[in-house]
Amino acid sequence: MPSHQVVLIPGDGIGPEITQAVQKILSAAGAPIEWDPHQAGLEALESGKDVLPSETIDAIQRRRVALKGPCTTPVGEGFTSVNVQIRKRLDLYAAVRPVRNLTGVQTRFDNVDLIIVRENTEGLYSGVENQLTADVVMSMKIATESACHRIARWAFRYATQRQRKKITVFHKANIMKVTDGLFLRCAREVHQRDYPNIDYEEVIIDAGCMKLVQRPEQFDVLLLENLYGDVVSDLCAGLVGGLGIVPGANIGEKVAVFEAVHGSAPDIAGQGVANPLALLMSSVMMLNYLADAREDPACREVGDLVKGAYNAVLAAGETTRDLGGPLNTDEFATAVIRRLG
Ligand code: NAD
Repeated sequence: MPSHQVVLIPGDGIGPEITQAVQKILSAAGAPIEWDPHQAGLEALESGKDVLPSETIDAIQRRRVALKGPCTTPVGEGFTSVNVQIRKRLDLYAAVRPVRNLTGVQTRFDNVDLIIVRENTEGLYSGVENQLTADVVMSMKIATESACHRIARWAFRYATQRQRKKITVFHKANIMKVTDGLFLRCAREVHQRDYPNIDYEEVIIDAGCMKLVQRPEQFDVLLLENLYGDVVSDLCAGLVGGLGIVPGANIGEKVAVFEAVHGSAPDIAGQGVANPLALLMSSVMMLNYLADAREDPACREVGDLVKGAYNAVLAAGETTRDLGGPLNTDEFATAVIRRLG
């Protein structure tokens, strides 16, 4: 099989450090990947380009698969999020984030094995914000029946394929009766019509957050609209050891962009101490996606090899600082490579 051409966006902050580590590991593992590097975020702005250059979007559309580091978004002013723009412009409507306990990573909870499915294109991330009067500003939460049905169908299909048992929708339809009400109605319809094999429940999100931090093992697949999915993803990361170990994928009909849940971590950028594992795990998701989408079993073999290697490293207690260990980014990459054998 020839190599798969994959767009690589190093991103901002810790992005270049962790992408370099991941490239090194995948290359040592013999991944059949040819990288096509492109810019986005502050890196693009600083080299005089648009924050999301059209050539980057074109390249992802052409290659259909990308691995992306985190991109910084200024708070309260400045450009709109590159991350949100990529998801919307490529219609990557399903964000999927597996959250699991890993052997060797001590946390308050055992047996956490959750999958978060987040609607990625609308809700309060529609970017429709206005100043109505000198006193009044407004942000519009948009929900469409087509997008709500689409994400529900995706989640139930995914749960069925992965032999999951239950989908829980977190919502606030007691207050946002029209928008969250629509999200719920669509999920209910898809469940009743097509997926009686999966248990289904609805939980008001505030109580859901309490239940998550009391007994996370009671949840299986969580289905959420955009903002709830964003917030609950970080909450769930905290249950299993932090953002350094939660991978993610943004999936559309024909294109997929793989990225960690975490951001550009400006507080530790440039120090060489960031944990590359979340991006590495995202790259394993990418290899599995390529194995299925391109019918290339070699990608799954390399993905399994890399997964086995990082699991062995963690089990031996060789971790980065965020997980209480002594290793820096490079040392962690070297430890994983040593275990590829
Ligand atoms: P963040 O995820 O960057 O960092 C939160 C905390 O987790 C920080 O203390 C950071 O040091 C730590 N952390 C995150 N990733 C880590 C890693 N790999 N290894 C070790 N520690 C890690 O969140 P933030 O500080 O709220 O956001 C920073 C910037 O990132 C913002 O501009 C935000 O908009 C952007 N962001 C981007 C994405 C994305 O590209 N998909 C996602 C979230 C945030």
